[in-house]
Amino acid sequence: MQTRINNLALVAHDNRKTALLDWLERNRDQLNDVHLITTGTTGRLVAERLALPVTRLKSGPLGGDQQIGARIAEGEVDMLIFFWDPLEPMSHDPDIKALLRLATLWNIPIACNESTADFLINAPLFQGYERRMPDFATHTHRAINPES
Ligand code: PGA
Repeated sequence: MQTRINNLALVAHDNRKTALLDWLERNRDQLNDVHLITTGTTGRLVAERLALPVTRLKSGPLGGDQQIGARIAEGEVDMLIFFWDPLEPMSHDPDIKALLRLATLWNIPIACNESTADFLINAPLFQGYERRMPDFATHTHRAINPES
């Protein structure tokens, strides 16, 4: 069944937060009925600057990226906009990789920069899309040799 993008996860590293806030401001009209799920600091800034309601999880380096990843695995995220910083090393790099890995695994649309975010939010599919769920049966039922 096709549904609108309802649950949008937002994460931005510190050097990319202004870019994300500017992007959100430009696209505010399209976000009125969208449930925003964010890491802690990103969410605080989104709420302050745009007065949009957000579900704020922990700050990224304190587990927020992992919390968003868990929500993706639970089927509670339809799209991820993740403005990660390509110029700075991050203490929580394994969490960032894990988030991108889970979003890729679960076939979630991901935007890591403004241009891709523009394409996603302006796509007709934003208003109605049935995401193909990956089939993990082979993995789930794989044989494990207890002797090895
Ligand atoms: P923050 O986390 O929104 O709490 O800054 C983002 C991140 O670094 O993953």
